[in-house]
Amino acid sequence: MNIILFGAPGAGKGTQSALLVARKKMRQISTGDLFRGHIKQQTRLGTEAKSFMDAGKLVPDDIVVGMVEDVLKDLGGQNFILDGFPRTVPQAESLDVMLMNNALKIDKAVFLDVPKDELMARLTGRRVCTGCGATYHVLAKKPKAPGVCDLCGSKLEQRVDDKEDVILTRLNAYEASTAPLVDYFKKKGQFVSVSGMGETEEIYKRIAGSL
Ligand code: AMP
Repeated sequence: MNIILFGAPGAGKGTQSALLVARKKMRQISTGDLFRGHIKQQTRLGTEAKSFMDAGKLVPDDIVVGMVEDVLKDLGGQNFILDGFPRTVPQAESLDVMLMNNALKIDKAVFLDVPKDELMARLTGRRVCTGCGATYHVLAKKPKAPGVCDLCGSKLEQRVDDKEDVILTRLNAYEASTAPLVDYFKKKGQFVSVSGMGETEEIYKRIAGSL
């Protein structure tokens, strides 16, 4: 079972992917995490992507597609979750070609549905561990010690692109470029919509039930 998990920024794709990885032994392919890894290691790809990401804009399709292709070639038969890719119709079309070339297929495109005012509250309050990437929320998911990750003890930070003005740019990019994928996946018969509201476990059960 290979799936695409998509939805607006803040819909909970990363949180739910982590559960699918732990419980269903799937491999998470998060383009956002891959880019952040490149930025941390100061690679050329990271330098190319950083200015777009910091501004809340989408990284150009050719850069993203090339990066995903390298991962897809190297899966060794493991089931995967595409988290945050594709984010535009041209990326989805490129994905179809890459899947064909690597004898892979997507079974479901799961849409995590969350209203816009909730997305804003989630993103402005989100804090991320600088060590292991675990996510917290200033109100809804506080760490045991303020500013410190429960899991690895590293410092928590707000992502540069989780500042309010940048969030608005990201939500606009989502509406303009990613929302049209709903129709794209419906036409392919892969689309499933799951409410992303409520407790993490409830949402996980909805996703697992839809697969
Ligand atoms: P995320 O962690 O999924 O919220 O992604 C963070 C940022 O990485 C986005 O706001 C974009 O700038 C960039 N990014 C991640 N995935 C993609 C993609 N598929 N296409 C273009 N830009 C992306």
